Amino acid sequence: MGRSELRRRLEEEMARLPIVQYEFFPTDTLTFSPRVRHICETECPQYNTTWACPPAVGTVEECRARCLAYPQALLLVTMAEVEDAASLSCTLPTRAAHEEITRRVCGVFRSAAVPHMALSTESCAICPQCAWPEAPCRHPDRMFPCVESHGILVTDLAERFGLSFLAGPGLVTWYSLILYRPAGGGL
Ligand code: SF4
Repeated sequence: MGRSELRRRLEEEMARLPIVQYEFFPTDTLTFSPRVRHICETECPQYNTTWACPPAVGTVEECRARCLAYPQALLLVTMAEVEDAASLSCTLPTRAAHEEITRRVCGVFRSAAVPHMALSTESCAICPQCAWPEAPCRHPDRMFPCVESHGILVTDLAERFGLSFLAGPGLVTWYSLILYRPAGGGL
């Protein structure tokens, strides 16, 4: 499939979905930082609890190499209304809808046979209890590792594309990155 046809199909699908912003850009403009991994290790309760987070995802260098194998990136942003955006118990239940939207957009890449990899917000919550580390991931095709788990500096993306993670006390912002390798180069 040609690049313009892929983009047309993506934009057609995204127009059907409640996506508030999307951006296409080259993957090699992402900023990978060991500082992000340090925050995972020292501040995140998900560290070492899931296949979607470090250390299961590998070192930052391994993650960077995995991402750069896909030269193009698509950032997806959705928002949900919540009672209190500062409360995880209010925001987390709205994440499944964002993950479903990410899966729908991944479906365009899949149907076009375009190699891709998706990263999404927070760690995976598909299973009540993650199989890590005793057994392999139960749903590797549906599971999205966390964007930050790969050492990606999300604040850099926010600055570049004018994203606000504090859109208001009653709004939560979710984001995903789909990295892909279109036939014949960039989009
Ligand atoms: S799908 Fe299940 S086993 Fe795989 S990362 Fe998510 S919670 Fe863990």
